[in-house]
This record gives sequence, C-alpha cells and structure tokens, in this order.
Amino acid sequence: MISYKQILDWFLGTLFPPLCVGCGFVLGDDKKYKCFCKECFNSIKLQNRFVCVFCDSRSTAGKTCPFCIRTSHLDQLLTAAEYGGVVRRAVKETKYRYIKNIAEDLSGLFGKFIAKQARAGKLQLTGGEVIIPVPLNRLRFNKRGFNQAQVFAVSAGAITGLAVADEVIERKFGGSPQADIKVKSERLKNAEGKYRCAKPELVKGKTIWLVDDVATTGSTLEDCARALKEAGASYVVGLAFAKGKLNKNRIKKLE
Ligand SMILES: [Zn+2]
Ligand SMILES: [Zn+2]
Repeated sequence: MISYKQILDWFLGTLFPPLCVGCGFVLGDDKKYKCFCKECFNSIKLQNRFVCVFCDSRSTAGKTCPFCIRTSHLDQLLTAAEYGGVVRRAVKETKYRYIKNIAEDLSGLFGKFIAKQARAGKLQLTGGEVIIPVPLNRLRFNKRGFNQAQVFAVSAGAITGLAVADEVIERKFGGSPQADIKVKSERLKNAEGKYRCAKPELVKGKTIWLVDDVATTGSTLEDCARALKEAGASYVVGLAFAKGKLNKNRIKKLE
C-alpha cells in the first residue's frame, strides 16, 4: 500500500528534483550520493599539506608552531579538504539547506582522510583517544537544530573504532547564565570563554580529537580546546572537514 508520505515524496521529487550541490545539474536515479554528482564528488581533493592554524606557517602534521603554542591550547589541526570549487559551494549550501545530506555525503571522505593521516603517522591513534564534536553554535544553528560536526565525528569513530563522547562541551551561557552565578570568582571564570567542559572525567589525561565541519579562524576550536585543557585533557587535535575562508567583514560580524 502506498502511503500518503510516499505520494508526497514523489510529488515533491518531481517538482523539485535533487540538484548537485557542485554543478547544479539534476541528479539521476542511480545517484551514489545524495547531493553530488559523481564528477563533482570525485573532484574534491584531500589535503596533504598543513599549516599552523594561528600563523599559517608550514607544519608537516598541522601542529601549532612553537611560537603560537605559547599562547594557544589547540595543539594541532588537520583539515581534510582543500577549500575551493565544489567544497566552497557545499560549505555555503550547508548554511541553509540539505544540511544533513551534504554532511553525510562528505563524512565518508572525512573518515578516509583520518585513516590516511593515522597511517602516515601525522595523527596519533593508539585507541585511547576520545572523539568530541564541537557543539552547535548560535551562528551556525539552523532551523532543524542539526549538528554537522556530529556527523563527521561519528564517521571518524566508525573508521577508527574510537568512542564518540557527546555533550562534553557546552556553551556556557546556554547552561548557566551569568546572573545565576553568585560567587564573583565563578562569574569571572564563566566570562573567560564561550565553552566549558561538562564532563571532565571523560577528558582528564586524554588526547582529544575535536571534530568540526568547517574551521574558519580556528577561534571556536581554540576556545573548545581551552575548555578541554582546563578540564585536564593532555593534548587536543582539531579535525575539520574544510578550512573555510571568510572575508574580514564577515568574520567581524560573526565574532
Ligand atoms: Zn555536479
Ligand atoms: Zn604558528
């Protein structure tokens, strides 16, 4: 029996056929990906050269350089895809639609990238690392309330066998408004950054894989890394699908 939903899906599919995020052509029925044609998907290049996220100097494994690490908490950042072409369009698209499907298509590629870096010795994988997705922030919050970072984190977990720990990092002002904190020293502590670690027992003494979909200035990853280090994490490596580029005016608006 054909359900009402099936009829509605067919109807919507006819009126609004799924288009490739990269080139805009209608996707055929045999499509392998939900949001990309094969050509566009295959054109996505994975990175093998990395830089210090804070100063852009060359760094074999994306480690924060000796100069920048003095004032930072994020020890390393590996971004999977080169920004440009299909990736640039997909990242823009994720801001307003098809969000979950795009992340699901790309997460397999992300998993492959992680496995490759671990084999190359650029990403330490002993089995004791903990994967933590960056929580949704207000700016990237979409109507569905869906966290892309979580999809990439799950893919990294699936390929490595590492556990994905949820709800470890939370936004401070969501959890405990300043007005609720009576002790002055606690209030000051609360104002230091936007994030805090809600489950220190899971991060103490551990290497953390901090996963996000797009790293732009690195400031969100750095703020989360600070929260994790304050809770006792020994090493924090950021893993993002793409390193986005925003123009300076837009960054000002976002931050
Ligand atoms: Zn295409
Ligand atoms: Zn540096």
